[in-house]
Amino acid sequence: MGYFLKQEVTNIGTTPINVRCPECGQNGSFHGIHNVADVTWRVPFKDEKGNPALRLGRGGIRMCPNLECRALVFYAQEGSQPITTYPPEVLDFDATNLPPNIHQSLEEAVKAEAAECHRAAALMVRRVLEELCADQKAEGKDLMTRIAALHAVAVVPPALLEAANELRILGNDAAHVEAKAYDDIGKNEAVLAIELAKELLKAVYQYSDLLKRLQNLRNQAGG
Ligand SMILES: [Zn+2]
Repeated sequence: MGYFLKQEVTNIGTTPINVRCPECGQNGSFHGIHNVADVTWRVPFKDEKGNPALRLGRGGIRMCPNLECRALVFYAQEGSQPITTYPPEVLDFDATNLPPNIHQSLEEAVKAEAAECHRAAALMVRRVLEELCADQKAEGKDLMTRIAALHAVAVVPPALLEAANELRILGNDAAHVEAKAYDDIGKNEAVLAIELAKELLKAVYQYSDLLKRLQNLRNQAGG
């Protein structure tokens, strides 16, 4: 999507916007920068009756409120459309205790999704799941069977595994996933695949860590 500046207006103020920071991943209310005004523009469109009309667009620079981050983002909004930012907002994920290769693949999946590259995101999610199964030595004839084998090392709700079958990127697994399985993957499926991967990673790497820390607490209290 491109933005074309039609008309510049200075001193229109800089109202804060709520953004998940593309840099540090925290949610924050991003404020403008001193002396840097927003700009506005008008975008031609057809109203319900097909008559030409103009919609107001506005955009500018905002700064992350996290004092250790202070990243700058550009934002733009046309009419009542959702705000878009550059760099784009990313889905949140918790990297606690993830092996480095899995962390890296998940990060790439999330960044691809933020850039609206849904098929690339889906491919990286598949890679995350393959790395997860390899790390946990979960074996089976195809990826879905290997994921199901994770129940030996983690508490994975059976209903979640059953629903995971609906994701096309997990099925159809011979030596390679057939390319056509990726053709229709859109935002919805890519986001769901990322959410599923996050839940499985949580079950394998993060619940077990919390459990260990809680047990340590009990041991300390007992000792
Ligand atoms: Zn930040």
